[in-house]
Amino acid sequence: MSDLVIFGLFFAAVAIGWMLGQRQRNSADASGQYFTGGKRKPHQLVIPPTDSFAEALAVDDGSTQSRIAMGVQMRRRGEVDGAVRIHQDLAMRTSLPTDEAAQVRLELARDFISAGLLDRAEELLLQLVEEFPGQREAARRHLLEVYEIERDWRRAIDVATDLLPRKLQPGRRTPAIPTGRNQRAALLLAHYCCELAEEQRLAGQLEVARKLLLSALSRDKQCVRASILLGQVEYDDGRYRHAVQALRRVRIQDSAYLPETIELLRKCYAALGEPAVLRDYLAECLAACPTAALVAAVADDMVQAEGRDAAGVFLAAQLQDYPSLPGLSQLIGLQLGASDASSREDLAVLQNLTQRLVAARPTYRCGHCGFAGKHLHWNCPGCRHWGSIKAIEGPGGP
Ligand SMILES: [Zn+2]
Repeated sequence: MSDLVIFGLFFAAVAIGWMLGQRQRNSADASGQYFTGGKRKPHQLVIPPTDSFAEALAVDDGSTQSRIAMGVQMRRRGEVDGAVRIHQDLAMRTSLPTDEAAQVRLELARDFISAGLLDRAEELLLQLVEEFPGQREAARRHLLEVYEIERDWRRAIDVATDLLPRKLQPGRRTPAIPTGRNQRAALLLAHYCCELAEEQRLAGQLEVARKLLLSALSRDKQCVRASILLGQVEYDDGRYRHAVQALRRVRIQDSAYLPETIELLRKCYAALGEPAVLRDYLAECLAACPTAALVAAVADDMVQAEGRDAAGVFLAAQLQDYPSLPGLSQLIGLQLGASDASSREDLAVLQNLTQRLVAARPTYRCGHCGFAGKHLHWNCPGCRHWGSIKAIEGPGGP
């Protein structure tokens, strides 16, 4: 691709981004008023007359429920300004029964989130938590949505803690094991602690990060992310035995994430001067839960410990049982180093082809929505679920 074409594409992307930004700003800064629960000064909003909005006004004499539903439909169609207008008109009515008044405010908060007006959504949701017990849990869940977008992990931790019943709150002597919806809140809490811990680790606050990660594990014992991150914090702090302990916990929590720990484990055992212990551990893992990703990691380790020939023999044998494209590419790479000049050219072509095929395939997939990509996201970019993305197993996987 020529530089001119790349420049053209870059310019087009910047222009589209600017236009989208303008559109968002226009929707927020217009004339009219946003209902925000009363404490904040009214904001201005212009709502362009659209066919859908005219349609909504036509049900002016309809029931509150039909108007709420109309607003929801408009929001789902992406006509957020119209949805805001309908729901805020309803919210300003003082004659609504309490349950409908709360329902309208909740829908209005959802409209604000869809419009990217997070401060207004937050204000309304906090009011719902305070004044409308019937919508308290739903309001807290939407508050989490707001704080996740803002990456305000401390507030998210506070709200997720409030979602837990009293028997699961911090400081209880005999904490119960969370189940069902509580389990979901515990999982969220653990991930929020991990987010905060990662920020602290990058800022060099290793002790704070360590405490947050231990807190994450006390919330959700199965949180592999907390164990992996704790291993990194301990490694950064030079506490290699503690790092190994944290990283080896992953195998018990969820063996699908075991390959994510191997690189750091290798560094830890190298620092401890015990590479043989890692080899024994990997062999044990391979016997217990063989996967293509693990085979690739063990082969990598063998290259360093026993040389390319031994790794090649091991990989060729393992690929019979656990075939994978990345494994094949790895094997060709090993053969390339040991081949004579006559076959090197053919192998190089083959390696180039397999590497391109590997590069074109996703490595990870979300078990909830199917989103696939090259990187392990702890918060799925497709469905916003936490901890639902794992390495793809099978012939196309790692
Ligand atoms: Zn997903």
